[in-house]
Amino acid sequence: MSFFEVHDPRFGSYVMFNAPVKQIATGFDWVEGPVWFGDANCLLFSDIPNHRIMRWTPGEGTSIYRAQSNYSNGHTRDREGRLVSCEHGTRRVTRTEYDGSITVIADCFDGKPLNSPNDVVVKSDGSIWFSDPHYGIKTNYEGYKSEQELPCVVYRVDPQNGDISVVVDDLGCPNGLAFSKDESILYVADTGPIFEADAPRAIHTYAVDGNTLGKGSHFHTIDPGAADGIRIDEDDNVWSSAADGVHCISSEGDLMGKILVPEIVSNLCFGGRAKHELYMTGTTSVYRVILNRSGIQIP
Ligand code: MG
Repeated sequence: MSFFEVHDPRFGSYVMFNAPVKQIATGFDWVEGPVWFGDANCLLFSDIPNHRIMRWTPGEGTSIYRAQSNYSNGHTRDREGRLVSCEHGTRRVTRTEYDGSITVIADCFDGKPLNSPNDVVVKSDGSIWFSDPHYGIKTNYEGYKSEQELPCVVYRVDPQNGDISVVVDDLGCPNGLAFSKDESILYVADTGPIFEADAPRAIHTYAVDGNTLGKGSHFHTIDPGAADGIRIDEDDNVWSSAADGVHCISSEGDLMGKILVPEIVSNLCFGGRAKHELYMTGTTSVYRVILNRSGIQIP
Protein backbone atom coordinates (compact mmCIF):
# COMPACT_ATOMS: atom_id res chain seq x y z
CA MET A 1 0.00 0.00 0.00
CA SER A 2 1.02 3.55 -0.44
CA PHE A 3 1.15 6.01 2.38
CA PHE A 4 0.56 8.93 0.03
CA GLU A 5 -1.80 10.31 -2.60
CA VAL A 6 -0.36 12.75 -5.13
CA HIS A 7 -2.93 15.19 -6.53
CA ASP A 8 -0.45 17.75 -7.91
CA PRO A 9 2.88 16.71 -9.49
CA ARG A 10 4.69 19.13 -7.20
CA PHE A 11 3.68 17.03 -4.19
CA GLY A 12 5.66 14.10 -5.59
CA SER A 13 8.89 15.72 -4.44
CA TYR A 14 7.51 16.38 -0.95
CA VAL A 15 7.23 12.71 0.03
CA MET A 16 9.60 9.77 -0.25
CA PHE A 17 8.24 6.38 -1.26
CA ASN A 18 10.42 4.56 1.27
CA ALA A 19 9.57 6.79 4.27
CA PRO A 20 6.67 5.16 6.07
CA VAL A 21 3.79 6.64 7.99
CA LYS A 22 4.64 5.03 11.29
CA GLN A 23 2.64 4.68 14.49
CA ILE A 24 5.05 5.78 17.22
CA ALA A 25 2.73 5.78 20.23
CA THR A 26 -0.75 4.42 20.93
CA GLY A 27 -3.26 3.58 23.64
CA PHE A 28 -4.79 7.03 24.12
CA ASP A 29 -8.37 8.25 23.68
CA TRP A 30 -8.22 11.53 21.75
CA VAL A 31 -4.78 12.97 21.13
CA GLU A 32 -4.29 16.60 20.15
CA GLY A 33 -1.93 19.54 20.38
CA PRO A 34 1.45 18.13 19.25
CA VAL A 35 4.41 20.45 19.80
CA TRP A 36 8.08 19.69 19.15
CA PHE A 37 10.84 20.61 21.61
CA GLY A 38 14.09 20.30 19.66
CA ASP A 39 16.19 21.37 22.65
CA ALA A 40 14.74 18.51 24.70
CA ASN A 41 14.51 16.17 21.68
CA CYS A 42 10.90 15.30 22.40
CA LEU A 43 7.33 15.73 21.27
CA LEU A 44 4.62 16.80 23.71
CA PHE A 45 0.96 16.15 23.00
CA SER A 46 -2.37 16.14 24.82
CA ASP A 47 -4.39 13.02 25.61
CA ILE A 48 -7.41 15.18 26.30
CA PRO A 49 -10.01 12.81 27.83
CA ASN A 50 -7.34 11.31 30.08
CA HIS A 51 -6.41 14.70 31.46
CA ARG A 52 -2.70 14.49 30.70
CA ILE A 53 0.12 15.77 28.51
CA MET A 54 2.35 13.03 27.14
CA ARG A 55 5.99 13.17 26.10
CA TRP A 56 7.46 11.06 23.29
CA THR A 57 11.24 10.82 22.97
CA PRO A 58 12.91 9.14 19.97
CA GLY A 59 14.41 5.82 21.03
CA GLU A 60 12.81 5.97 24.47
CA GLY A 61 9.09 6.04 23.85
CA THR A 62 6.25 7.62 25.76
CA SER A 63 5.95 8.92 29.30
CA ILE A 64 3.65 11.31 31.16
CA TYR A 65 4.88 14.90 30.97
CA ARG A 66 2.05 16.36 33.04
CA ALA A 67 -0.74 14.50 34.83
CA GLN A 68 -3.77 16.60 35.74
CA SER A 69 -3.30 18.74 32.63
CA ASN A 70 -6.66 20.49 33.06
CA TYR A 71 -7.78 18.73 29.88
CA SER A 72 -5.23 20.63 27.84
CA ASN A 73 -5.72 20.70 24.08
CA GLY A 74 -3.54 22.73 21.67
CA HIS A 75 0.01 23.78 22.44
CA THR A 76 2.72 25.89 20.90
CA ARG A 77 5.95 27.56 21.97
CA ASP A 78 6.43 31.28 22.33
CA ARG A 79 9.40 33.18 20.93
CA GLU A 80 11.36 32.40 24.10
CA GLY A 81 10.66 28.69 23.64
CA ARG A 82 8.21 28.38 26.51
CA LEU A 83 5.24 26.03 26.32
CA VAL A 84 1.92 27.82 25.73
CA SER A 85 -1.16 25.66 26.34
CA CYS A 86 -4.92 25.76 25.87
CA GLU A 87 -6.80 24.20 28.77
CA HIS A 88 -10.45 23.12 28.55
CA GLY A 89 -10.88 22.26 32.24
CA THR A 90 -9.78 25.63 33.56
CA ARG A 91 -11.00 27.47 30.45
CA ARG A 92 -7.74 29.33 30.04
CA VAL A 93 -4.50 29.77 28.11
CA THR A 94 -1.33 29.34 30.13
CA ARG A 95 2.43 29.57 29.77
CA THR A 96 4.81 27.17 31.49
CA GLU A 97 7.81 29.15 32.73
CA TYR A 98 11.39 27.83 32.72
CA ASP A 99 11.06 26.96 36.43
CA GLY A 100 7.86 25.00 35.81
CA SER A 101 5.47 27.53 37.29
CA ILE A 102 2.29 28.35 35.38
CA THR A 103 1.34 31.85 34.25
CA VAL A 104 -2.25 32.52 33.16
CA ILE A 105 -2.33 34.42 29.87
CA ALA A 106 -6.12 34.59 29.40
CA ASP A 107 -9.09 33.15 31.24
CA CYS A 108 -11.90 35.64 30.67
CA PHE A 109 -13.19 38.30 28.33
CA ASP A 110 -15.63 41.06 29.13
CA GLY A 111 -15.85 39.72 32.68
CA LYS A 112 -17.03 36.28 31.53
CA PRO A 113 -15.12 32.97 31.50
CA LEU A 114 -13.73 31.81 28.17
CA ASN A 115 -15.38 28.73 26.62
CA SER A 116 -12.58 26.19 26.16
CA PRO A 117 -9.45 27.47 24.38
CA ASN A 118 -8.57 24.98 21.67
CA ASP A 119 -5.51 25.99 19.67
CA VAL A 120 -2.90 28.72 19.81
CA VAL A 121 -0.14 30.39 17.78
CA VAL A 122 2.42 33.03 18.68
CA LYS A 123 3.33 35.71 16.16
CA SER A 124 6.88 37.01 15.83
CA ASP A 125 5.97 40.15 17.80
CA GLY A 126 5.11 37.93 20.77
CA SER A 127 1.34 38.34 20.47
CA ILE A 128 -0.66 35.20 21.29
CA TRP A 129 -3.63 34.27 19.11
CA PHE A 130 -6.00 31.54 20.25
CA SER A 131 -9.37 30.03 19.29
CA ASP A 132 -12.15 29.59 21.83
CA PRO A 133 -14.84 27.17 20.56
CA HIS A 134 -17.22 25.45 22.97
CA TYR A 135 -16.18 21.80 22.58
CA GLY A 136 -14.66 21.52 26.05
CA ILE A 137 -17.77 22.69 27.91
CA LYS A 138 -20.55 20.99 25.95
CA THR A 139 -19.87 17.51 27.38
CA ASN A 140 -17.87 16.00 30.23
CA TYR A 141 -15.62 14.10 27.82
CA GLU A 142 -12.94 16.73 27.19
CA GLY A 143 -13.53 18.97 30.21
CA TYR A 144 -16.38 19.97 32.47
CA LYS A 145 -19.89 20.48 31.08
CA SER A 146 -20.70 24.11 31.75
CA GLU A 147 -22.77 27.02 30.57
CA GLN A 148 -21.44 28.90 27.54
CA GLU A 149 -21.23 32.63 28.23
CA LEU A 150 -19.23 33.90 25.25
CA PRO A 151 -19.43 33.41 21.47
CA CYS A 152 -16.93 31.13 19.74
CA VAL A 153 -14.26 33.51 18.44
CA VAL A 154 -10.51 34.00 17.99
CA TYR A 155 -8.69 36.29 20.41
CA ARG A 156 -5.38 38.14 20.30
CA VAL A 157 -3.37 38.80 23.46
CA ASP A 158 -1.18 41.89 23.27
CA PRO A 159 2.47 41.17 24.11
CA GLN A 160 3.01 44.51 25.84
CA ASN A 161 0.00 44.96 28.11
CA GLY A 162 -1.76 41.56 27.99
CA ASP A 163 -4.97 43.11 26.66
CA ILE A 164 -7.29 40.64 24.95
CA SER A 165 -9.26 41.54 21.83
CA VAL A 166 -11.58 39.66 19.46
CA VAL A 167 -10.06 39.26 15.98
CA VAL A 168 -12.38 36.69 14.33
CA ASP A 169 -16.12 36.57 15.07
CA ASP A 170 -17.69 35.26 11.86
CA LEU A 171 -17.10 31.50 12.16
CA GLY A 172 -19.14 28.70 13.74
CA CYS A 173 -16.37 27.22 15.89
CA PRO A 174 -12.84 28.44 15.13
CA ASN A 175 -10.24 25.79 15.83
CA GLY A 176 -6.72 25.44 14.34
CA LEU A 177 -4.68 28.56 13.53
CA ALA A 178 -1.57 29.22 11.47
CA PHE A 179 0.20 32.27 10.07
CA SER A 180 1.58 32.24 6.55
CA LYS A 181 5.37 32.42 6.28
CA ASP A 182 5.47 36.21 6.14
CA GLU A 183 2.64 36.50 8.67
CA SER A 184 0.51 38.47 6.22
CA ILE A 185 -2.29 35.88 6.41
CA LEU A 186 -3.90 34.08 9.33
CA TYR A 187 -5.48 30.75 8.42
CA VAL A 188 -8.33 29.68 10.69
CA ALA A 189 -10.01 26.28 10.59
CA ASP A 190 -13.72 26.21 11.40
CA THR A 191 -14.97 22.84 12.68
CA GLY A 192 -18.56 24.00 13.26
CA PRO A 193 -20.79 23.82 16.34
CA ILE A 194 -20.83 20.49 18.16
CA PHE A 195 -23.86 18.29 17.39
CA GLU A 196 -24.56 20.27 14.18
CA ALA A 197 -23.41 17.76 11.61
CA ASP A 198 -24.36 19.88 8.59
CA ALA A 199 -22.68 23.12 9.78
CA PRO A 200 -20.22 24.58 7.26
CA ARG A 201 -16.64 23.53 7.92
CA ALA A 202 -13.66 25.01 6.09
CA ILE A 203 -10.34 26.79 6.36
CA HIS A 204 -10.65 30.58 6.06
CA THR A 205 -8.03 33.26 5.42
CA TYR A 206 -7.75 36.68 7.05
CA ALA A 207 -5.35 39.39 5.93
CA VAL A 208 -3.27 40.58 8.90
CA ASP A 209 -3.50 44.32 9.37
CA GLY A 210 -1.34 45.24 12.35
CA ASN A 211 -3.08 43.98 15.45
CA THR A 212 -6.34 43.27 13.66
CA LEU A 213 -7.56 41.23 10.71
CA GLY A 214 -9.37 42.04 7.50
CA LYS A 215 -12.55 40.35 6.34
CA GLY A 216 -12.37 36.57 6.13
CA SER A 217 -12.69 34.55 2.97
CA HIS A 218 -13.09 30.86 2.21
CA PHE A 219 -9.77 29.13 1.45
CA HIS A 220 -10.38 25.39 1.25
CA THR A 221 -12.88 22.76 2.41
CA ILE A 222 -11.31 19.55 3.64
CA ASP A 223 -12.96 16.31 2.51
CA PRO A 224 -13.39 13.85 4.14
CA GLY A 225 -13.78 15.21 7.64
CA ALA A 226 -12.80 18.74 8.58
CA ALA A 227 -9.69 20.80 9.13
CA ASP A 228 -8.85 20.87 12.84
CA GLY A 229 -5.11 21.52 13.25
CA ILE A 230 -3.16 23.31 10.50
CA ARG A 231 0.57 24.09 9.93
CA ILE A 232 2.62 25.83 7.25
CA ASP A 233 5.70 24.53 5.43
CA GLU A 234 8.71 26.33 3.98
CA ASP A 235 6.95 26.73 0.62
CA ASP A 236 3.91 28.34 2.28
CA ASN A 237 1.67 25.32 1.77
CA VAL A 238 -1.00 24.58 4.37
CA TRP A 239 -0.95 21.12 5.98
CA SER A 240 -4.31 20.24 7.50
CA SER A 241 -5.69 17.38 9.52
CA ALA A 242 -8.52 15.39 7.89
CA ALA A 243 -10.55 12.24 8.48
CA ASP A 244 -8.24 10.22 6.23
CA GLY A 245 -4.93 11.73 7.32
CA VAL A 246 -3.20 15.00 6.53
CA HIS A 247 -3.84 17.04 3.39
CA CYS A 248 -1.32 19.42 1.82
CA ILE A 249 -3.02 22.49 0.33
CA SER A 250 -1.19 24.99 -1.87
CA SER A 251 -1.28 28.67 -0.93
CA GLU A 252 -3.76 29.05 -3.81
CA GLY A 253 -6.13 26.70 -2.00
CA ASP A 254 -5.69 23.56 -4.12
CA LEU A 255 -5.23 20.04 -2.79
CA MET A 256 -1.68 18.92 -3.63
CA GLY A 257 -1.56 15.58 -1.88
CA LYS A 258 -2.40 13.51 1.14
CA ILE A 259 -0.57 11.61 3.85
CA LEU A 260 -2.86 8.65 4.56
CA VAL A 261 -3.33 7.74 8.21
CA PRO A 262 -5.53 4.87 9.45
CA GLU A 263 -7.22 6.97 12.17
CA ILE A 264 -8.93 10.40 12.14
CA VAL A 265 -6.21 13.04 12.52
CA SER A 266 -6.84 15.98 14.83
CA ASN A 267 -3.63 17.95 14.58
CA LEU A 268 -0.02 17.91 13.43
CA CYS A 269 3.34 19.62 13.83
CA PHE A 270 6.75 19.60 12.24
CA GLY A 271 9.75 18.49 14.26
CA GLY A 272 13.07 16.69 14.13
CA ARG A 273 16.52 18.14 13.48
CA ALA A 274 15.55 19.69 10.12
CA LYS A 275 11.88 20.27 10.95
CA HIS A 276 11.20 17.73 8.22
CA GLU A 277 9.42 15.19 10.40
CA LEU A 278 5.63 15.48 10.45
CA TYR A 279 4.00 14.37 13.71
CA MET A 280 0.29 13.65 13.49
CA THR A 281 -2.08 13.08 16.40
CA GLY A 282 -4.68 10.55 15.24
CA THR A 283 -7.44 9.62 17.69
CA THR A 284 -5.76 6.88 19.81
CA SER A 285 -2.24 7.16 18.37
CA VAL A 286 0.57 9.41 17.23
CA TYR A 287 2.03 8.91 13.75
CA ARG A 288 5.20 10.22 12.14
CA VAL A 289 6.39 10.53 8.57
CA ILE A 290 9.64 12.03 7.33
CA LEU A 291 9.16 14.48 4.46
CA ASN A 292 11.40 16.08 1.87
CA ARG A 293 10.28 19.53 3.06
CA SER A 294 10.61 21.44 6.30
CA GLY A 295 7.92 23.11 8.34
CA ILE A 296 7.74 26.54 9.81
CA GLN A 297 8.07 25.84 13.46
CA ILE A 298 9.10 27.63 16.60
CA PRO A 299 11.85 27.69 17.60
MG1 MG B 1 -8.15 21.64 17.68
